[in-house]
Amino acid sequence: MIKVLTIAGSDSSGGAGIQADLKTFSALGTYGMSVITAVTAQNTRGVSSVRELDPEIIREQISAIFEDIQVDAVKIGMVFNTTIIDSIAEILLKHRIKNIVVDPVMVSTSGYTLLQPQAREALIRELFPLAEVVTPNLWEAEVITGEKISTLPAMEKAAMTISLLGSKNVVVKGGHLEGDAVDVLYNGKSFRHFFSDRVSTPHTHGTGCTFSSAIAAFLAKGCPVEEAVAGAKEYINGAIAHAFPLGQGVGPIHHFY
Ligand code: PLP
Repeated sequence: MIKVLTIAGSDSSGGAGIQADLKTFSALGTYGMSVITAVTAQNTRGVSSVRELDPEIIREQISAIFEDIQVDAVKIGMVFNTTIIDSIAEILLKHRIKNIVVDPVMVSTSGYTLLQPQAREALIRELFPLAEVVTPNLWEAEVITGEKISTLPAMEKAAMTISLLGSKNVVVKGGHLEGDAVDVLYNGKSFRHFFSDRVSTPHTHGTGCTFSSAIAAFLAKGCPVEEAVAGAKEYINGAIAHAFPLGQGVGPIHHFY
């Protein structure tokens, strides 16, 4: 059995966060485990409240898993604050964990803060160097690089800049750019572009979480990074194409299409 762990926040409406990660792991035929960092009160209209967990129980959750189970890949999503980031980094280093995918989650689509702005530096400094792949969206890439990104060459430049922060590979996700959805992968030497037709749907909740979890699942299965990103892209496109309405706002993508 291939085993994948997510360290992330809970989405009570089931579309994003830990819930999306676990659905993705199952859909891709792997065994999913979860360490919860924070709990959000959330529905399809947005996030209304966040409570982070005590770093001690986060550390204990991770230790409980690593002391007993061989984990094939780890996805890190919402980490909320600096103390939580410190705890996660310390344990991952101690156990020399490989195949780490870091999704630098900062703000929900509805505009709610999922990472305290003062924790951005710690996220970059402590978690990026541990990552096999980091997966910023355009807005996150702009925050990290301090540059506006509105073209493919600007995405490439951002991927290069972010790669200098220590992760082996960077995927800058272009989903929010006009036109076709293009993602740029940079491995420190060369680029690969992943194009796909834009699927027209208002229901895209959980897209980012699902993409990074899918990369982790494919890495866990032993795929090289390029293949893992290609596989994740194909999976996410299908999930978006089968997205459905739920509640009154932005519905979820379909993990088991
Ligand atoms: N809630 C949690 C717990 C998340 O981790 C994320 C994104 O990573 C979101 C919400 C945001 O999802 P969306 O941007 O699709 O609203």
